[in-house]
Amino acid sequence: MTDIKTLESWDRDNFFHPSTHLANFARGDMPNRVISGGEGVFIEDKSGNRLLDAFAGLYCVNVGYGRQKVIDAIAQQASELAYYHAYVGHGTEASITLSKMILDRAPDHMSKVYYGLSGSDANETNIKVVWYYNNVLGRPQKKKIISRWRGYHGSGLMSGSLTGLHLFHQQFDLPLSQVIHTEAPYYYLREDSSLSEEQFSAYCADELEKLIQREGADTIAAFIGEPALGTGGLVPPPKGYWEAIQKVLNKHDILLIADEVVTGFGRLGSMFGSEHYGLKPDIITIAKGLTSAYAPLSGSIISDKVWQVLEQGTDTFGVFGHGWTYSAHPIGAAAGVANLELVDQLNLVGNAAETGAYFKKAMQDAIGDHPHVGEVRGEGLLCAVEFVADKAGRKRYEPMGAVGGQLAAALLKRGVIARAMPQGDILGFAPPLCISREECDQVVSALKDAVSEVLG
Ligand code: PMP
Repeated sequence: MTDIKTLESWDRDNFFHPSTHLANFARGDMPNRVISGGEGVFIEDKSGNRLLDAFAGLYCVNVGYGRQKVIDAIAQQASELAYYHAYVGHGTEASITLSKMILDRAPDHMSKVYYGLSGSDANETNIKVVWYYNNVLGRPQKKKIISRWRGYHGSGLMSGSLTGLHLFHQQFDLPLSQVIHTEAPYYYLREDSSLSEEQFSAYCADELEKLIQREGADTIAAFIGEPALGTGGLVPPPKGYWEAIQKVLNKHDILLIADEVVTGFGRLGSMFGSEHYGLKPDIITIAKGLTSAYAPLSGSIISDKVWQVLEQGTDTFGVFGHGWTYSAHPIGAAAGVANLELVDQLNLVGNAAETGAYFKKAMQDAIGDHPHVGEVRGEGLLCAVEFVADKAGRKRYEPMGAVGGQLAAALLKRGVIARAMPQGDILGFAPPLCISREECDQVVSALKDAVSEVLG
């Protein structure tokens, strides 16, 4: 076994880490973290620390760490057949079974699953599907995609363009010209304090309608959104939001892509966020909770309506010219089957609803009255605390982010991982869906101490 000091120096010398301040890391201004194990909601590092992971990795380890059932399924698949491709009608028992399991759980009007490896590549697929759809229908000009500011849809060229966070755009000449952004459904940060949630939802729908009219409905193919905003701040939609938005989309014949990479498979306390908020999407993006990240796998669930056109298209264009080497990778598919079985066996969707409600209330009771806690919000096990400089005026800290970072560090000192979300002073909590009330209490107690250490 390589000792920790050697690993740390190899790490700084050789590893280009994602979403990292490269210069600080190279200089040693930030620590290496060599993670070595995990069980349930806890992870361990090579320095012997045991941490309660209240963000489930990147909100993906939904069944928790160290689940033998998933590990065994992966090992068995690897020994039977580690790889075969899925081109020209090939499949494995795992990929075929998983497709049926996903469709059994998805809204009734969904029809087929296309597989990728990441949420980003699934969204690339989705946009190609949407463009293809309009090519088949003879409307080649109907191609623009509307996304929301603060949405997060990945880091590829198209998926990064769909993302509505400046951090992901400015450094890379994004967004691409086919992508336009509209108002974020972020009620807490509304400019007009007098608006009710329903009025704010109507305002968001109105802004969307104006954008569509400006651009021309015949140029707009699809709208993409997370049922509840994730990386952009962990924000459940205001009342009536999706109803109002879908009315506008239907009126202008614009497809709806529900990005359920975070919300799919139970995070909000329903199997899908679409079911939770009454969305009728044409395409659903899935990843993270599909395998609980035991192996990389993502998917695009395609509705009957879109599928009919895709089939028709191949009679005109020939073979559907889009494929990845690792589409429906057998090891990912085997992990997915075992993972979804476990979600049912452990009643994790029910636990997300019940324990999520308990957790949110416990946070509200512990710190809700603090003068710098602007809002405690959440749905199921997707929760956040937003910290502000001025509570009455809902004024954020300037510059943004420092307080959130200090709070996350103070929590870490107390053995709890929360995520300081980008573009705000927001602590995000999205623990494994198996978290217990006692473990939530541990998070809340650490949070209370961290808040009084950092903010008094
Ligand atoms: N969509 C959403 C809603 C996400 O939260 C993420 C990742 N956090 C992605 C897409 C991209 O997924 P990946 O990082 O697997 O490419």
